[in-house]
Amino acid sequence: MSEHPTLGDTLEGTVERHPDRDAIIYPRKDQRWTYADFDDRVNRLANALLEAGIEKGDRVATVLYNGSEIALTVFACAKIGAVFTPLNFRLPAGEIEYIVTDAEAEMVLFESATREAVESARPNLETVDEYVFIDDDRADTPSDADGFYEMLESGSPDRPDVRVDENDVYAFIYTSGTTGQPKGVVHEHRDMVEHNLLCIAESNLTRDDVGLSMMPLYHCAELHCNLFPRVHRGAANVIHHEFEPNAVLEAIETHAVTLVFAAPTAWNALSLTAAEMDVDVSSLRLGLYGAAPMPEQVLENCRQHLCDDYLQAYGMTEIGPAGVFQAPEDQLSKQGSAGLPALNHRVRIVEPDADPEQVVDEGAVGEILIASPCTMREYWNRPEATADSLREADGTTWYYTGDLGYRDDDGYLYVVDRKDDMIVSGGENIYPSEIEDVLFTHDAVEEAAIVGEPDDEWGEQVVAYVVADDSITASDLDAFALESDHLADFKRPRTYYFVDKLPKNPSGKVQKFKLRTHEADVEPETESIS
Ligand code: ATP
Ligand code: MG
Repeated sequence: MSEHPTLGDTLEGTVERHPDRDAIIYPRKDQRWTYADFDDRVNRLANALLEAGIEKGDRVATVLYNGSEIALTVFACAKIGAVFTPLNFRLPAGEIEYIVTDAEAEMVLFESATREAVESARPNLETVDEYVFIDDDRADTPSDADGFYEMLESGSPDRPDVRVDENDVYAFIYTSGTTGQPKGVVHEHRDMVEHNLLCIAESNLTRDDVGLSMMPLYHCAELHCNLFPRVHRGAANVIHHEFEPNAVLEAIETHAVTLVFAAPTAWNALSLTAAEMDVDVSSLRLGLYGAAPMPEQVLENCRQHLCDDYLQAYGMTEIGPAGVFQAPEDQLSKQGSAGLPALNHRVRIVEPDADPEQVVDEGAVGEILIASPCTMREYWNRPEATADSLREADGTTWYYTGDLGYRDDDGYLYVVDRKDDMIVSGGENIYPSEIEDVLFTHDAVEEAAIVGEPDDEWGEQVVAYVVADDSITASDLDAFALESDHLADFKRPRTYYFVDKLPKNPSGKVQKFKLRTHEADVEPETESIS
């Protein structure tokens, strides 16, 4: 072990302290491994990867649902300095091709559920030498792929003989692709070790905690904020294949789960299901969430049916992801806020795209900058994007989040919208999320996305893409918007596009760039307001 630990060292330290405590519980396959068992398997897989020709620095891509296998793979890669490159299991073949080719991956791990997409992408995956298939049923393994469990059995349990340092690359984590093509975020081992300590401290994580991973482990929110800190600390990890409220609640009872991470929409579904189910979730001590603030009603339902305390994280793939936390005691008093900078983090609000010194007036909206010890090294193969988003001032590297926000008198951060989505009409800044929130409150509106369209007179014009009941018309919605107390006249959408669905990335976020550039696969029915 070098003086500064790597991700692999965090696991080995836990094995030294708590060899016999539960590490991984994966009910779907009846697997229950202590830290010693888990580490033994990690070593076996790591050695088998070396045997298969993977070297330090090679990219190992996974297209896997949640399971013990993705947990084994990430730690096996860490121990040999291979670059873990997890892909969303929902990606279609074309997007798998894009990321695997961009990352120049040497190996791809896949399974029955992702087989079709991987195999259709395969003829175009020119950099890949080796495929590994999760061989639950060995008869099913494609003839030209290695079997995962076969590799595990054949690999030596000795610690792999590869020197990995804190500054070595741990992973390429691709961003979600909400504002454009996904970008490969290059994280080093030390980013993760710092990030683990932060998450352990903010959630008061102890070895007695039992975390449940049901949000996807390919995404840094579940992987970095939940699985890694728990492994580092020596807490137990129950891995759930997919989000399914009934099964998740039962698992909480069965395994006496203390911590769960979910998006607010998933917390909402869990609380509504818990209200109707006879289930004992009293073991739960803290609910973690990210992606958006928790609406007050959802928080209330969760408190009534699940547990009292919730912790919000705000951040993005590029900084680890967590950079700002809203503590349990601030949930109600600072409703709508993302919270305060995490330990060792700083937050600054500047004029969008301006130098880090150009801070806005107190309380004004601007671009959110974050200085974090967990900031990425760079975007893979994108020097311009890297230079745009990482800028130095007085010896500090500031990450330009691309999000707009402001801080209140007490320094609490409020995220307003994405910078790219802001509309400037007649010299006024308009934040789409505010208008969307108003439209959402109309019973007939299922979904709404507000974007700006070029306009000769005003610069940009506000337009709405709406998924709604057939019965509703543009003038109904306009009247509703006008009645609303909050919406100034210049923010009223001037055109409504009625669509069947909105373009979304595989995590469910609306891709507004596709609406703005009209490349979305939507057939709008248009109504303009005179
Ligand atoms: P891409 O960068 O490819 O466009 P993305 O930004 O959606 O995709 P992620 O890194 O997964 O990819 O998401 C980070 C973004 O999610 C943040 O920039 C922010 O807009 C939003 N976000 C995350 N947490 C919160 C939160 N607690 N409150 C509000 N917004 C959040
Ligand atoms: Mg982003």
